[in-house]
Amino acid sequence: MPAETIKQEILAQGPISVVRFMELALYAPGAGYYLTRDPFGAGGDFTTAPEISQLFGEMLGVWVAEYWQRNGCPPLTLIECGPGRGTLMADLLRATRHVPQLHGSLQVVMVEISPALNQRQRATLKDYPFIRWVGALQEIPARQHCLILGNEFLDALPVAQHIGSQERLVGLNAEGALCFLPQEGAVREHCPALPGLFAEIARLMQPFGGACLFIDYGYGEAETPPASGSLQALKAHRHHDVFEAVGEADLTTLVDFAAVRRAAQEAGLHALPLLQQRQFLLQLGIKTRLENLLTRAEPPQKAALLSGMERLLDPTQMGSLFRVFCATHSASNVPYGY
Ligand code: SAH
Repeated sequence: MPAETIKQEILAQGPISVVRFMELALYAPGAGYYLTRDPFGAGGDFTTAPEISQLFGEMLGVWVAEYWQRNGCPPLTLIECGPGRGTLMADLLRATRHVPQLHGSLQVVMVEISPALNQRQRATLKDYPFIRWVGALQEIPARQHCLILGNEFLDALPVAQHIGSQERLVGLNAEGALCFLPQEGAVREHCPALPGLFAEIARLMQPFGGACLFIDYGYGEAETPPASGSLQALKAHRHHDVFEAVGEADLTTLVDFAAVRRAAQEAGLHALPLLQQRQFLLQLGIKTRLENLLTRAEPPQKAALLSGMERLLDPTQMGSLFRVFCATHSASNVPYGY
């Protein structure tokens, strides 16, 4: 139980940072939330764009194929960070299987920290011999063009919280339950893993060229994050107190895309303007793709395709809260959709 591990650590060493709390709750070996379960779908805790509609992974397939063709059909490493059930990659590969030579030029690498989800992805993708799995980007050599994808990956990275100049700490109350130590004021968050992540991405992209694409819920440059911080717990599709079901609930934050942009630029990458998911998918041609699928679909499938696309695009659902961040190795390499 991560809650017990966390309490033991606090009893032994005193209050811990929010980063450490998130690390233990999500990733404690053998006990953390992501390491022990499949959290997705109707029976799980949350659902994601690839689980909502096949169109999502298919459109990213169009994006990948376009990059590859525009760059002269080179050998290409395609990396997915945090692939969940493997659905996005399955849809991407199915949608691109008729692009001549593409699959023969691909090495796909899945970066997954969770043994449970790694198993799940292997089952989903068993028909593709050119996929391998690693636990971190550090394990991947930079040998050729490289594209890196991540849907709802950044929001799972632990954040630190500060109030004024003080770091916010997690301790124990009089009853021995986990709590924030009392501090007054607005909460600011930052993700300490971002510089290291983008240094790795730059290492992979810069020698031969490449692009990365991260899609997540969050806020951009001119938007203000919640004054109470954005850290929240999600269990069975409902918000929970972050200390209520530690290790049994997902912990997630809104992604600070201004910080993501700075980390990419500091790593020497060229950052493109932040787009809303709606804009991006429309610019990739999601409506044309839908029409093609509809001509071949049976009525129940038609209804599912239409409602799935609506959820991805509707501004009151995922269309505008979800953002797309792209960075390339150089300003001359403008990817499809921009
Ligand atoms: N992309 C999927 C899953 C999103 S959930 C989808 O859209 O459905 C976050 C995913 O990232 C999970 O697969 C989780 O196990 C993985 N993950 C979280 N932190 C990670 C890390 N530091 N390294 C690798 N994978 C990580």
